[in-house]
Amino acid sequence: MRVQGVGVGRGVVTGPVLRMPEPLPEPSDRPRSNTAAWESSRAEAALRETAHDLSQHAEHTTGEARAVLEAQAQMAQDPSLLTDVRSRIAAQKTAERAIFEAFHTFQQMLLSMGGYMAERASDLGDLSQRTIAHLRGVPVPGIPDSDTPFILVAHDLAPADTVGLDLERVLGLITSGGGPTSHTAILARAKALVAVVGVGDVAALVDGTEVLLDAAEGTVTIDPSPEDVQTARRRLGRRRSKVPVGPGTLADDTPIPLLANITRADEAPAARELGAEGVGLLRTELLFLDAERAPSIAEQVEHYQRIFEEFPGRRVIVRTLDAGADKPLAFLPVDAAEPNPALGMRGLRAFRGDDSILRDQLRALAIAADSCRADVRVMAPMIADAAETARFVLLARELGLGTAGVMAEVPSAALLAAQILGIADFVSIGTNDLTQYTLAADRQLGALADYQDPWHPAVLRLVRMIGDAGGQSGKPVGVCGEAAADPLLAVILVGLGVTSLSMAPEALADVRTELRQHTLEHARLLASRALAAATPAEARLVMAEA
Ligand code: PEP
Ligand code: MG
Repeated sequence: MRVQGVGVGRGVVTGPVLRMPEPLPEPSDRPRSNTAAWESSRAEAALRETAHDLSQHAEHTTGEARAVLEAQAQMAQDPSLLTDVRSRIAAQKTAERAIFEAFHTFQQMLLSMGGYMAERASDLGDLSQRTIAHLRGVPVPGIPDSDTPFILVAHDLAPADTVGLDLERVLGLITSGGGPTSHTAILARAKALVAVVGVGDVAALVDGTEVLLDAAEGTVTIDPSPEDVQTARRRLGRRRSKVPVGPGTLADDTPIPLLANITRADEAPAARELGAEGVGLLRTELLFLDAERAPSIAEQVEHYQRIFEEFPGRRVIVRTLDAGADKPLAFLPVDAAEPNPALGMRGLRAFRGDDSILRDQLRALAIAADSCRADVRVMAPMIADAAETARFVLLARELGLGTAGVMAEVPSAALLAAQILGIADFVSIGTNDLTQYTLAADRQLGALADYQDPWHPAVLRLVRMIGDAGGQSGKPVGVCGEAAADPLLAVILVGLGVTSLSMAPEALADVRTELRQHTLEHARLLASRALAAATPAEARLVMAEA
């Protein structure tokens, strides 16, 4: 049996699946009906089980991960925590509620202490969930613990969970929800994790079921035969690019710099090895997904320096914090009652009332840029028009950053691209959001995944407007959305006036190979045909026929 979803990347992987249990709801605050002694002994037993699980887990782990697990096991047995739980039970709470409240109080206390202790605060939420799961006799929520490798099945993952996936154990990822440009999919691609998202019904995938994941085909084959596996592997072998690593150029030697989308310094060596000519998108919000408080300027400088030092003499385009929607940051809270988070206080809009966090970030970037040899440029997400562009560009310059651009990911920015490029030093097109907002379809909704198609002629027309404005102003127009990683679409984007492409490093080889097959004139001809298409399928046909 085979189910269809949308593949992320092009890999193939086989293995047994493990499902990710759903998060547990907050325990109710009704008074306990058992005796205090009974509830206390349940709570103590559950805490012992939690500590035991974590210690066992630590034994199979090394380095920093081991130290974190050992520290968590100790926290679960902390005598003052136990005293707090007992006194709450004495005050009529159930064991579940007492555990929930005690960990919550402990968490607030660590947060107020700041520094290293505050960083450990988020571990307590995990400990609380684990212990309550033991009390209820249900699976522990979160990424399953397993000593053997598995393919993870989830409805969707939070970006923080995806970043933290241990690739030694998680071989692949299947989600029932989520679209191909959801941040889970983007982060999976960045980790070179084979993933198929938006699969819909995953009821047949019970723990232990063997599956074959083929990302290029977007399929999940249940109980695959040896022939199925062989065929998929052979297809993968044929697809592998054999063009040597080097700068991106067209067949007529027009340079099209190929850049990397990265998040952390440790991704840089692999990106350089794969031929990244610099960084086209550093998503800074992903550095701080776990931070409970806004990072200080000094903390930020340290992060940025580590990344910049990896790219001496190369461009590194840093995007200022793009919090909100599916990437909430605890220190930039938005109104939880916002009915449409993707249309709400997202990106630059999060700083409408108070821009102190943005100012600190720009200051930190300027300090880090001054101390390194990277060619650091900044850009702002979710820019709507020239007035917003002017506000951001002036602020960036005032705070010491010489080159300031904006992302074009809201359709209004494409319509006003000429005005925007009259102010900004460059534009980078975020095709993920540009597609979401042009087609008015939430990029996180698996059920609408077919709308998340940057081949849509409406999206191509907006890219053309930005490309034309770039050509007229003589300023660079990049693409840093997932569209840049599609080798055939990359040719069309160049034909529409795009001058550089930024993508997950693993996509660089295929894009480089395809670009070398076309002159600029040919790319322009193909682009004009794709623009005339009525549907994404028709636009794809242009390249298939070419
Ligand atoms: C985009 O929208 O295309 C983009 C690159 O930004 P993000 O995916 O982080 O929203
Ligand atoms: Mg975006």
